[in-house]
Amino acid sequence: MEKSIQIKICPTCGGGKIKKVRRNWSGRFQGQSYSVPSLEFHECSECGEKVYDREAMRRIEEESSAFIKSRKQKHAMA
Ligand SMILES: [Zn+2]
Repeated sequence: MEKSIQIKICPTCGGGKIKKVRRNWSGRFQGQSYSVPSLEFHECSECGEKVYDREAMRRIEEESSAFIKSRKQKHAMA
C-alpha cells in the first residue's frame, strides 16, 4: 500500500516549518467557489505555501469535477 508522502522542507522557501494540516479547503472555478471538507495537505507557516500530495489532488479533482457537473446539470435543466 502506498503511503502518503512526507514533506519536511518547504519547496518554496526551503524552511523546515512546513507541516501537515487538515482543514476545509476552498477553490475557485469560473468565479464560483467550491470546497473540499477536511482536506489534508501540507502548509508552510513561514511563506504560506501549500503542497498537495496525490491523495489531496485526487480529492480536489473529485470535488471540482462534481462541482462542474452539478453546474452543468443545473444549466441543462433551466
Ligand atoms: Zn515556505
